[in-house]
Amino acid sequence: MAKLHNLGFPRIGENRQLKFSLEQYWQGKIDQSALQVSAKQIRANNLDQQSNLDFAQVGDFSFYDHILDTSFLLGNVPARANSKTDQYLDDYFRLARGQAPGDDSCCGIAAGEMTKWFDTNYHYIVPEFNKDTTFSLHADKLIKQVHEARAKGFVTKPIIIGPITYLWLGKAKDDINPLHLLDTLLPVYQELLDKLAKLGIEWVQIDEPALVTDLDNEWLLAYRYAYQYLKEREVKILLTTYFGSLESNLPIACQLPIDGIHLDAIRGKADISKVLPLLNSQQVLSVGIIDGRNVWKTDLNKALDFIEPLAEKLGDRLWLAPSCSLLHVPVDLALEKNIPEEVKNWLAFAKQKLAELTLLGTAIKFGRSKVAAELAENSYCLTARKSSALVNNTVVTKAVQQIQKSDKQRISAYRQRAEIQATKFNLPKYPTTTIGSFPQTSDIRIARREFKQGKIDFSVYQRLIKAEIQQCIAIQEELQLDVLVHGEAERNDMVEYFGEQLSGFVFSQFGWVQSYGSRCVKPPIIYGDVSRQSSLTLDWTIYAQSLTKKPLKGMLTGPVTILNWSFVRDDQSRSETCEQIALAIREEVIELESAGIGIIQIDEAALREGLPLRKSQWQDYLNWSVDAFKLCANGVQDNTQIHTHMCYSEFNDIIEAIANMDADVITIETSRSDMELLDVFDQFSYPNQIGPGVYDIHTPNIPTVDSIVQLMESAKGKIPAERLWLNPDCGLKTRGWQEVTPALENMMAAARILRQ
Ligand code: GLN
Ligand code: ZN
Repeated sequence: MAKLHNLGFPRIGENRQLKFSLEQYWQGKIDQSALQVSAKQIRANNLDQQSNLDFAQVGDFSFYDHILDTSFLLGNVPARANSKTDQYLDDYFRLARGQAPGDDSCCGIAAGEMTKWFDTNYHYIVPEFNKDTTFSLHADKLIKQVHEARAKGFVTKPIIIGPITYLWLGKAKDDINPLHLLDTLLPVYQELLDKLAKLGIEWVQIDEPALVTDLDNEWLLAYRYAYQYLKEREVKILLTTYFGSLESNLPIACQLPIDGIHLDAIRGKADISKVLPLLNSQQVLSVGIIDGRNVWKTDLNKALDFIEPLAEKLGDRLWLAPSCSLLHVPVDLALEKNIPEEVKNWLAFAKQKLAELTLLGTAIKFGRSKVAAELAENSYCLTARKSSALVNNTVVTKAVQQIQKSDKQRISAYRQRAEIQATKFNLPKYPTTTIGSFPQTSDIRIARREFKQGKIDFSVYQRLIKAEIQQCIAIQEELQLDVLVHGEAERNDMVEYFGEQLSGFVFSQFGWVQSYGSRCVKPPIIYGDVSRQSSLTLDWTIYAQSLTKKPLKGMLTGPVTILNWSFVRDDQSRSETCEQIALAIREEVIELESAGIGIIQIDEAALREGLPLRKSQWQDYLNWSVDAFKLCANGVQDNTQIHTHMCYSEFNDIIEAIANMDADVITIETSRSDMELLDVFDQFSYPNQIGPGVYDIHTPNIPTVDSIVQLMESAKGKIPAERLWLNPDCGLKTRGWQEVTPALENMMAAARILRQ
């Protein structure tokens, strides 16, 4: 009765061992065999976590990214990174990370483009295609890992990315349609399946998450074509989908000649009952019943209510799993020492989620009574969570209820505000500013760490940060920037800094989740009603303002970005949580204003990232997220100038929402596109002011005066000069002063030329 399996386990290691080994390898401090040893150890640990499951999955480990692995598996390695030697791993890292000019290649190697994995915060390396793309099978590594798992006594289930999703994820470098490569790609998949069959593998998990997105007919037909092609095979295919509902793609998926299908029963619960009548009497249904996208304990009794009838119907043909790979959650809750016990009782990380899965399996096989104590404990924890004073704050609920439409609206329209603000600030044409952060030197980091560890007390810390602010203001004065910032020296991270001070948030010590390659993030966990206990940025900001006569721009992170970069509670809608955060930040905005801060920037770096996978859900998301921004920003007087900043470049399909935000000034990333990104603002007749980034802060290169003048000349062709600002395209915290000062000097020189 009911088989248990997993779709993937975090590969970074519970102590981020992989990260540290990789970085040592890249720095030449360890050799390849040491790196391999460390990787093997992680794989072995991961397998041990899964000994209660019916299969051990193989193929979920990766040195950098599993899509890049797939490109190597399929022999689709761009020529620039293919040394055609047996140094596979070095080619792999060259493509993952790029290579600077000089170190053993004359002109450097561009890294593969990186992009977001569906709606997660994981990033993959985009497969590259062109009309000459060919494929060939390189399955040695996968097969080695099959043997590795077998040596430990496991029944293995290899995981591969399916052919259609692979093509769908990639990008053509010329004008070919990736689908035209299908005929050359499929024989390689066939060869792989044959190879796995020869090894005696029974089941292969083929991931086709593209099926939860809007697909046009051409792609749907390709699904039919591809799986029809792979029909003659000796292994069984579990077609695996996750991150959402199949919606109208469901009938097509079920008609494919496959042996089973995995569905995400968290985000696509309704699919389960729809799929039942479509399965034949041999096919397996794998139900993703444990949420792989958040950190909350599963309601096990409720899950059993849902799966017991399925088990009755399907018997052995019911499989149970997490909804998606556990890559997107931290590894082990047991390591956490600082999360309050009460909150810890509500949480489950990857290891705990597998334990939940095992428990469900036991209950299905032997009845709930077999695990009665565990089920009672689980329901006790969940009941406690529902009524906990840590979660529920009536002051917040009341405040949310009292929100008026007018709270989200500025008093006057932009045109009137702009006049009032022009008189108040009297800024020159092409006002100059920066996006907020200045270099985070090692002194600053050390001070912050020591303060956190209690090694220095607040007064010492405050003195150090104030000295930093003072220096930052002095440099900006010297540069003659028009609108200054305090430099964000006190911030480790634009979300963590705010989360740490707001109630309703908790921070793990080891809750790392892979973002890309060796990079991990530690998202805050929002567990309760959010409120502001005291001011968040006020003291640093007024101190900075006290040092200059020029306007100082207050610097806040917006509610949508805080939400999208956190693990969010699952007991109320995202929009409600976002509204609560917005109210908290709004209080700070109003307090800054009353303290005499006339310009306030609210960063919404992650607003676009939060767009749902399905277009049909975009409008709803944009409505509530823009509303949250407006709620937080628009409680100010006409003479207060609101800025927002967004560091992505695609505005085409969201320009209306951006205009609805009604920020007086928006600063964006445009320098790399030669200001082409302003076209959409132009076409839309975007009415407010824009600061198009005039240089790319992601590289150490110093922009020339000329390049900046030229960019602004082309900006002027699209946006009237009187509505243009001059600024870098993002914060400067990752740069050194030796880059920042000359770059800003050139920006100021360009401003002087433009003003003439
Ligand atoms: N104000 C932030 C900074 O300058 C903005 C960062 C961002 O957009 N990612 O660092
Ligand atoms: Zn940015």
